[in-house]
Amino acid sequence: MTARAAVVGAGPSGFYAADQLLKASVAVDLYDALPTPYGLVRAGVAPDHPKIKSVTRMYEKTAQHPSFRFFGGVEVGVDVTPEDLLERYHAVVYAVGTPTDNRLDVPGDGRPGSVAATEFVAWYNGHPSHADAAFDLSCERAVVVGNGNVAIDVARMLVLDPDELAGTDTADHAIAAFAAASVTDVVILGRRGPAQAAFTNPELRELGELARADVVVDPSEVELDPASAAWLESGDASPTTHRNIAMLRELADREPARRSHRIELRFCRSPIEVLGDGADGPVTGLRVARNRLEPGPRGVRAVVTGEQEVIPCGLVIRSIGHRGRPLPGVPFDERRGLIRNAGGRVCEEDGTPRVGEYAVGWIKRGPSGVIGTNKKCAADTVAGLLDDLPRGRLADLPEGGGDAVEPWLRARVAGLVTWSGWQAIDEHERARGADAGRPRVKLVRVPEMLAVADQLRLSA
Ligand code: NAP
Repeated sequence: MTARAAVVGAGPSGFYAADQLLKASVAVDLYDALPTPYGLVRAGVAPDHPKIKSVTRMYEKTAQHPSFRFFGGVEVGVDVTPEDLLERYHAVVYAVGTPTDNRLDVPGDGRPGSVAATEFVAWYNGHPSHADAAFDLSCERAVVVGNGNVAIDVARMLVLDPDELAGTDTADHAIAAFAAASVTDVVILGRRGPAQAAFTNPELRELGELARADVVVDPSEVELDPASAAWLESGDASPTTHRNIAMLRELADREPARRSHRIELRFCRSPIEVLGDGADGPVTGLRVARNRLEPGPRGVRAVVTGEQEVIPCGLVIRSIGHRGRPLPGVPFDERRGLIRNAGGRVCEEDGTPRVGEYAVGWIKRGPSGVIGTNKKCAADTVAGLLDDLPRGRLADLPEGGGDAVEPWLRARVAGLVTWSGWQAIDEHERARGADAGRPRVKLVRVPEMLAVADQLRLSA
């Protein structure tokens, strides 16, 4: 009897889980809500980082396995339920990521021009759910709140030269909007200090090498408070932190080259109000509180002082982490915004594991790490799944599985796209890109994608 697993979500963690299951002779059906695979590699990784995207070649190899099938365009929780899948597979692995953003939760957060980095990133990467979004880039200054790598990506995208974007797979609508933008000044705001920044060394280094933007760090911003200095001296701080501090000091010493654009890093400031005219007028500024740092139970923490300042700006992009979205009937930890699980086994509130349900990637452990982190994360979950396989429901062959799955899906989902359909989309996008000297020109609307996938089906 062939064991069969449904993996829900075709991003990196879904592909790593699929690969490891296939290697253990478990047949895999990989589901995605979009007709296209690769999750955040397609719709999250910055378009000027093509090397990172080349990881998809590994996923393509996984997809060649004879026991692999892709079912794109199927939103689990909408088109089919987790329960439907549990009836058809020995195991279901949720690899759905954390698509929702954390809120600032300050007055004015909902004003036009106060936006989530998740939406902005999805928009410039051509995610179909965000293709019609509009971001007003007619202001001179934007503030990016948060000190993670996403904040750095967003700030960099705002100041890249149009020529640098021209050779990328940035969505066409975003290339046009960036070319017409008036933003010349981007402030990146950290609520704690430089020693607590979550961004990593290559991303910070890249900021210092931008063609048309100076990176500005006031020397006073990198003077360490006693708590951070003690932590750095204790030997507990990572090499990444030490190098970040050294790079920030080097940036603070630099003479600005008077480029047309600038990115300024400011630390120890928390947003307290998004300013604008009236109750719901567009953003005109961000009121921030100055923080002081002190030792806390979980490391150095920020404490608001009475000091405040206003940063005039027309755009506030919050890049302060992500949360998962609950799936119907699947236990969810509201506090952490993740599927409730123990080492990847989905479990009830009292810790009892659910039979046949697993989680991998960001929806299992939270939005952290790089793409490769998901390989080990998936291996841990798959090891548990394989261990459970001979027991309970996992030992029974579900009816309606195997060959019956595709007709069942076709009857339910008008826009079902299989791997060959995706390959047709992929070829089409690459061909459009080749004409323009770009890796691909993305299709950004589902009907367009389905038309291309369908042409293949018609000609087959
Ligand atoms: P992140 O690394 O967790 O950073 C979130 C940032 O938001 C932190 O600086 C955090 O500060 C701050 N923050 C949280 N709540 C806040 C609040 N209420 N007010 C102000 N600041 C707040 O998240 P991310 O940037 O979204 O990245 C997610 C993961 O993807 C990370 O592992 C990242 O490295 C990875 N990624 C990697 C790349 C790359 O390799 N090039 C690119 C993009 C993303 P505190 O530390 O004070 O909480």
